[in-house]
Amino acid sequence: MAALGGRAGAALLRRRPLPGLGAGPRRYRYKEKWAATAPRIPPTRLALHHFDINYSLQLKELWPSVRAGLLCEQKYGALLNNFSLPDHVTQELELLNATDFVSEATKKARSVAAAEEAGRGKSSEGRMVMQVETMTQAEMSPPLRASISSNIKCYTFPRGDITRFRPARPNTLGILDYYLMDAASLLPVLALNVQPGDFVLDLCAAPGGKTLALLQTGACGRLAANDISISRTKRLHQILHSYVPKEIRETVSVTSCDGRDWERLEGGTFHKVLVDVPCTTDRHSVMEDDNNIFHKRRTKERQMLPMLQLQLLMAGILATRPGGEVVYSTCSLSPLQNEHVIERAIEIAETQFNVALRVEDLSRFRTLFQDTFSFFSDCRLGELVLPHLTANFGPMYFCKLCRM
Ligand code: SAM
Repeated sequence: MAALGGRAGAALLRRRPLPGLGAGPRRYRYKEKWAATAPRIPPTRLALHHFDINYSLQLKELWPSVRAGLLCEQKYGALLNNFSLPDHVTQELELLNATDFVSEATKKARSVAAAEEAGRGKSSEGRMVMQVETMTQAEMSPPLRASISSNIKCYTFPRGDITRFRPARPNTLGILDYYLMDAASLLPVLALNVQPGDFVLDLCAAPGGKTLALLQTGACGRLAANDISISRTKRLHQILHSYVPKEIRETVSVTSCDGRDWERLEGGTFHKVLVDVPCTTDRHSVMEDDNNIFHKRRTKERQMLPMLQLQLLMAGILATRPGGEVVYSTCSLSPLQNEHVIERAIEIAETQFNVALRVEDLSRFRTLFQDTFSFFSDCRLGELVLPHLTANFGPMYFCKLCRM
């Protein structure tokens, strides 16, 4: 429980014995004014303390820079809403020097492919240097080219540019032109690589940024968006209402079930499943005291997170049909919530459900999107976007499992 508990954390959380609250005749008991006067450690400080202890071990010399990123203003991307026909919006964004990071990567992929093609035709004397920017042929495998949905468009400002996007505007039909989100949140959706007609499940969907991105692919044959929280599901409905025309909206089935029960409802049905689990939301935890999972009254909940995440991932795996794919994601740096959950799920799937899984190598995402995001190069399984002052997105962990 390194990032979630630990002795140092327990010591910080431990309260002194409370005089006056011991056993004794009821009429003599009094409640000292400890609640008002005892120093209360804000959850943001507790979170930072946990992270300092654990992430400095994990990220070593990278931690001070990641820490600074976490504590500074986050950068946003503008996910273009294809349902609002945003031609003038792209022009407006490009004038501001923002670029669509997805199509930039697609262009890169194409130029590498073209260079490879041209290279094949050259004689050994006239051998071409097979590198476009920093990419090599080995890094640029064919599945990569196939794994980027060109329908998703997300504008970001260049590294080091901290310009903010204006708020979204409605078109004449009242549909908003873009959705502001952490651009790294799109990477799990891109990794899911939805193909035309795919049945897609978004198991923990609210408030709905990734559901909206899934709809932008225009490829979902069926989309089921679920979230246990009724209030957050309402926000998902609002987002669908603000961004998606009625006829498309009505094709999305929105539910408020416990995702852990999904297998019982519709096991083995979906081609693609996104499991974007609740986590320690590291950026929020160091910045906002409200609704903070490091609040001392939420210690147990925090410690149980890896178990909940594992159960949700297992439900996602079992909801996938053989040959289908699951993407697991968190917005935490914690290996306990990331790689460990993946490893445990693979083990349980195999031993208890006789389901074999393969972890897809997503290192090519690092190559493709390195201009936009800072990736951690030592992730054992999956990929991790690290906050950085020049590209302050993330944290975002994502890992793809293919059900054999
Ligand atoms: N995918 C969302 C997006 O892109 O906007 C963010 C999801 S958020 C990281 C995690 C969500 O999991 C929360 O909305 C929370 O209500 C939901 N959740 C927590 N426990 C759940 C459960 N047992 N089943 C389904 N959803 C759950």
